[in-house]
Amino acid sequence: MTALRDALIARIARTGPISVADYMAECLLHPVHGYYTTRDPLGVAGDFTTAPEISQMFGELIGLWLAQVWMDQGAPAEFALVELGPGRGTLMADALRATARVPGFHNAMRLHLVEASPTLRARQTTALAGHNITFHDHPGQIPELPLFLIANEFFDALPIRQFQRGPTAWHERQIGAEDGALIWGLAPEAPVEPLSDRLADTTPGQIVELNAAALPIAQDIGRRIDGHGGAALIIDYGDAVSIGDTFQALQDHAAIDALATPGQADLTAHVAFDPLARAAAPARASSLTPQGVFLERLGITARAEALAGRLGGAALDSHIAAHRRLTHPAEMGTLFKVLALTPSDSPPPPGLEPA
Ligand code: SAH
Repeated sequence: MTALRDALIARIARTGPISVADYMAECLLHPVHGYYTTRDPLGVAGDFTTAPEISQMFGELIGLWLAQVWMDQGAPAEFALVELGPGRGTLMADALRATARVPGFHNAMRLHLVEASPTLRARQTTALAGHNITFHDHPGQIPELPLFLIANEFFDALPIRQFQRGPTAWHERQIGAEDGALIWGLAPEAPVEPLSDRLADTTPGQIVELNAAALPIAQDIGRRIDGHGGAALIIDYGDAVSIGDTFQALQDHAAIDALATPGQADLTAHVAFDPLARAAAPARASSLTPQGVFLERLGITARAEALAGRLGGAALDSHIAAHRRLTHPAEMGTLFKVLALTPSDSPPPPGLEPA
């Protein structure tokens, strides 16, 4: 399985070293050899597991959060319910089941899924059987309606660029080729306009990442929410700002060399949330909140206890472990963060505080 590596090496020979963003885009979404294009990477048999795959409670609470914000905004009669990168469709299926009895919610919603992978589109269609789905390749294609949007572990899959700080400017990290292998390199030092404010909080040698593909998406979401109403819930691992190299490759639930198996490993980077919040202005950003705190505020413990009453033996043990995994600081509770975007004139949404 070296077809993609050979294609990358041929491209580098023709046009020179490529950015991390170009490498991520090719590895994840190449139409024939891309990681997401060719497989369902989720779950125990795949390369990684996500919160909605751990427990139904995650999608249920998010569904009720969306419905609450919809009601708080006067229950608009038609709105786009959007998920970016829905994976197996599990989160949305749990959210729709939990909101089935919210008066008017399902009647008013138009379900729009943004998904690049044909394999995963098929899984989502199955998981959401009975619902009318419109698929899009890109968030820009969603109709102009009040927008209620969820993105869980979507932004971490978007291509980033990496820069190593020099004395007065930045060297972009690049991927070149040597003796039939992909290798790391650095471009000559040059100013990078979006990183000009990062000269103040970094020292030479440090690496800073730029969410190249995420920023225009955040900007578009913010414009829609402020213009038409709605809310976005962005959940991912990361922090307020990016410092250091967070580019990583996962295969079979283990970290591997990101250049070793192009197209065969999941490539991600931590999400830097402050730049997303700034790009989404004038929509209002909530304070960045740890996932565990957010889920506790939404009542996950009460929901966990209600479900536990129906379980016993191994099923009960795994339910208790799932609750812990989603919320505990040593598991996903602190590493994963929640950011909400709402219209500039609306109060902070449930479970979150103003920034
Ligand atoms: N939200 C799901 C899946 C996360 S994996 C969950 O929590 O389980 C990332 C998802 O984003 C996958 O569905 C993947 O196919 C999709 N994806 C990744 N990059 C994308 C892009 N550039 N455009 C659209 N979808 C993308």
